[in-house]
Amino acid sequence: MLTEPLPDSLLVPFAPGSVWLAGAGPGDPGLLTLLALQGLRQADVIVHDALVGDRILALAAPAARLEFAGKRGGRPSAHQDDITSRLIELAREGHRVLRLKGGDPFVFGRGGEEAEALAEAGIPFRIVPGITSGLAGPAYAGIPATHRSTNQAVVLATGHSNNGGPDWKALAATGVPLILYMAWKALPDIAAALREGGLSPDTPVAVVTEATTERQDTLVTTLGTCVADLEASGLEPPAIIVVGEMVRLRPQLDWLQGQRAGQVPHG
Ligand code: SAH
Repeated sequence: MLTEPLPDSLLVPFAPGSVWLAGAGPGDPGLLTLLALQGLRQADVIVHDALVGDRILALAAPAARLEFAGKRGGRPSAHQDDITSRLIELAREGHRVLRLKGGDPFVFGRGGEEAEALAEAGIPFRIVPGITSGLAGPAYAGIPATHRSTNQAVVLATGHSNNGGPDWKALAATGVPLILYMAWKALPDIAAALREGGLSPDTPVAVVTEATTERQDTLVTTLGTCVADLEASGLEPPAIIVVGEMVRLRPQLDWLQGQRAGQVPHG
């Protein structure tokens, strides 16, 4: 068990007047990086997203102020410009500002835009990568992102159609498996386009919801039936959707299900 403080060689001081743009990982606090944890312990102000859960925020120093800057499809959300101005303002006031985002800040998280604004404003910042939900979600569902028997490449794509969205037919034509973020609403369109692009209706699909939290759930289906199955499932976003042959490895690799049922994982 980790009860001793971190060795000095791993300690990174958080300078007043600077911003750490950090990933909190997908939900399980065990998937925080040591740097994100140090950010939580040292920050004066933590500006966080809806996707950052309470179990992670509970690790903040008692004196830290928490500010919610939620952005989540369909709900009232803070404007991106307001968030970046707020980060700049807090840093200029001399605070240690932790901008904490779900997963990895540079993977579909607008972290790049926020970092650009900080750079333009001359605010010192550090990027703390996090474990992205697109890799951790499948892993917690027993689905490897790559496996020598199934795929030599994988595409991480957004299902959000801002800026037009990806060219699904072209992606389908490559045959490379897909890991989709923010694809819940557009799944009917995406599935249809992938089939038009040549993917078989039998292509395995997994939908992993609230990945790595206590509420994680997984639906395994196929490209041909995923829309109806998802609707009938009663599941809710956020979800990572995996389209590809590696989903077939799950029955043997579903270690989490085994642990929940109190069994020894497959050995
Ligand atoms: N930067 C984040 C992604 C932000 S985009 C990351 O690296 O994980 C928001 C999308 O991420 C959601 O729509 C969903 O597709 C996915 N997501 C984030 N956390 C998730 C979780 N715990 N379980 C399932 N999907 C998640």
